[in-house]
Amino acid sequence: MRMLLIEDDPTIAHELALRWQQRGWQLQAVATLAAARGATAVPGLFDLVLLDRGLPDGDGLDLLAELRRGDTDTPVLVLTARDQVADRVQGLRQGADDYLVKPFDAEELEARVEGLLRRTIKTPDRRLSFGDLHWLGDEGRACLGEQTLELSPREFEVLGLLVRRAPRLLPKRALIEALAARNLEINDSAAEVYISRLRRRLTGSDVQIRTLRGFGYLLALDGRVTGQPAGDET
Ligand code: CA
Repeated sequence: MRMLLIEDDPTIAHELALRWQQRGWQLQAVATLAAARGATAVPGLFDLVLLDRGLPDGDGLDLLAELRRGDTDTPVLVLTARDQVADRVQGLRQGADDYLVKPFDAEELEARVEGLLRRTIKTPDRRLSFGDLHWLGDEGRACLGEQTLELSPREFEVLGLLVRRAPRLLPKRALIEALAARNLEINDSAAEVYISRLRRRLTGSDVQIRTLRGFGYLLALDGRVTGQPAGDET
């Protein structure tokens, strides 16, 4: 299980990381909304998100609203010191799956986390399409029209990340971190190699991989990209 904790109290982050290590749950902790936006740029990387409301750069509920526009599946448990009914209702209305008031008992939190994980049978990677390209996560293959693409497992994962974000930008850093989260460690230059191989495989279709130099990559349908593509460079 991979959890994301968005919480600016280092004690909570530290205690949970220690406890959960023993259960075999991986916890990635970030302390600001800005860092959380980076960590959640690619949907589906975490099995569950724990979200504090009072963060140094804003209210966690603002992030929740943004998250829910692109990802309706990942369960989100809101942690907060606010215990007013109106605050709870607001959180749940904005897409939180559960709510826990601080200070909380770690065992109660774990019971709630287990409950959420049971309810949300992790959605298998969905079947995603963009133009002629179909990425069939449940079958472990991708095709252009009817034609199955010959892809290595890493190419398949990279393509899946691009399709999930399409037509938005996939930051290069998010690509590398997303692969690391799946135990597919790659470095900067390897990422470029995979992108350029995928670009070749998509040649002749209506889908192109564009590079926004210094930022990352995006899938574009012919003629619909905005921004400055960098041609064939990776
Ligand atoms: Ca806080």
